[in-house]
Amino acid sequence: MNHSLVKFIRSIYRTNDFIPLHAPTFRGNEKDYLMKTICSTFVSSVGKYVSQFEQMVESYTQSKKAVAVVNGSAALHTALFMAGVRPNDLVITQSLTFVATCNSLYHMGAEPLFIDVSNKTLGLSPVATENYLQENAYINEEGECIHKNTNKRIKVVLPMHTFGHPVELDELNDVCKKWNLCLVEDAAESLGSFYKSKHTGTVGKLAALSFNGNKIITTGGGGMVLCGSEVVGLRTKHITTTAKIPHPYEFDHDEPGFNYRLPNLNAALGCAQMECLPEFLAQKRELANSYQEYFKGTEFKFVVEPEHCKSNYWLNAIICPDKKCRDLLLKETNELNVMTRPVWKLMHKLPMFKNALKGDLIVSEHMEAHLVNLPSSPINIEFEK
Ligand SMILES: *Cc1c(COP(=O)(O)O)cnc(C)c1O
Repeated sequence: MNHSLVKFIRSIYRTNDFIPLHAPTFRGNEKDYLMKTICSTFVSSVGKYVSQFEQMVESYTQSKKAVAVVNGSAALHTALFMAGVRPNDLVITQSLTFVATCNSLYHMGAEPLFIDVSNKTLGLSPVATENYLQENAYINEEGECIHKNTNKRIKVVLPMHTFGHPVELDELNDVCKKWNLCLVEDAAESLGSFYKSKHTGTVGKLAALSFNGNKIITTGGGGMVLCGSEVVGLRTKHITTTAKIPHPYEFDHDEPGFNYRLPNLNAALGCAQMECLPEFLAQKRELANSYQEYFKGTEFKFVVEPEHCKSNYWLNAIICPDKKCRDLLLKETNELNVMTRPVWKLMHKLPMFKNALKGDLIVSEHMEAHLVNLPSSPINIEFEK
């Protein structure tokens, strides 16, 4: 089985060399825009590509305002700050996620509260969230959602669109409204993914995108905060650029800000990559279709986009019938130079989050033991055949 899988993947990528999980693709105007940036000398915190990149993401996602920052982790930090997270607050999130989701809230003095993911989306389950809140929370006189056992305030619900598959945003939004919580989306992996007809990251009040080297488009390092209103967008821009009051030469700052501004050099790369996004999406969808076809009728379950959603299929994934089978698949494919990976170690098993509050995590545990990611770089399958 594993050897024929390797053969199949090699036939798609048409190479006998190492096949990575996800490599960046530069076949557009990247070099041109980078050269223009260097020649202009505006490589750093000033330059036209930053606002151009923001506008491209804004119009693609139909976000009210997009603010470019240095990476996805900074975007998450900014989004949680703008959502009003304070030290000692609890933030409801997934244990099945990349560590950056939890690091962002940890560094604000907040704590994660882990709720299970849904079988259908691999992202935060609205049903599990509602059930946990019913049992463990109440709304106080100030209208704040309070965790009964610890008396801590629950402020934010932070779902993550795992591998680009959108979570059930309407249902999570309903839970948030009922419990007076702020919905913030970790959309780091889901540029190009739509929930119903809305782009991921535009249902919550705020969201974070990442343009790290392994994501669907890359700026080397980079991120974007998607803001649900113009007002929030303007303040987000302000605090991520040292909270400077505009003036031709004087220094004046009106609050403690961050220096999270994306350099123009990275934004230039971003503009070229955004131009290629539709092509990447089409190629990744075709690749996902090929995998789905390949695994049809086998004991491996290929993870497909949830109902009413269009996924970017950032990372393709299969669910193995048991852990032994998963371990063997990981070992044999990697030995044959085709990179496959298990999902992240669950967050509540990491030393810094091992004492965090949590609900039952049955689906998360199941995915941790059975899921494998497959090579997912965009490739023109038709052309390569
Ligand atoms: C990539 C990623 C991030 C962080 O992005 P960086 O740009 O690497 O800081 C955050 N959350 C998730 C789920 C990610 O996959």
